[in-house]
Amino acid sequence: MKLTKAQRAGIKMKFGGMCSYCGELLGEKWQADHLIPIRRNGDGTCMNPEHDVIENLMPACTICNKNKHSFTLEFWRKQLEDSNRKLRDYVANYRLALMFGQVQETTSQIVFHFEKWEQQPKGKYNWSLIPEHVQFMATDEDGMACGWLVEPKIMGDAWRHQSHLSAFFNINARDNYLNHFRGDWKESLEKRPEEQSP
Ligand SMILES: [Zn+2]
Repeated sequence: MKLTKAQRAGIKMKFGGMCSYCGELLGEKWQADHLIPIRRNGDGTCMNPEHDVIENLMPACTICNKNKHSFTLEFWRKQLEDSNRKLRDYVANYRLALMFGQVQETTSQIVFHFEKWEQQPKGKYNWSLIPEHVQFMATDEDGMACGWLVEPKIMGDAWRHQSHLSAFFNINARDNYLNHFRGDWKESLEKRPEEQSP
């Protein structure tokens, strides 16, 4: 389906500006991947148009998008979980690395970024860790996250509020205060949610 600029921007931010699958921060080059694959007829028309819808589109880095190909999610998960065996079977240097203890294999299951994301508390910041009097959180272009008592506005390359310049404090140095916001900083403003998760 053809996407508008706004729709693409929305899809990119679906999971914090990160690739739905591997969790890498998306740069300029990324693709909208069909979670449930679509199939095309010879003339390019879609065989299963019910899946060519915006809800089925996932932001993906070019590597994941290419590797997932037209697989279903579960088939691709199995393929990825089979990586160690493929390396052992086909890559002599990998077998050597194993023999000499340079590689430690795990049998951990593949959990995609969007699956972890859905388990996380909703929102851009972990509000349960932010001091109670902070009503807004915003991250400046340089990655500095600030708490505000009043709603700030973008001025230049930072969030500011003309009449309340002293009403914020920087909590950048205290990493455990935030789910670090990693997307487009202009999208980083968030009001304290009404209902706080415990
Ligand atoms: Zn990826």
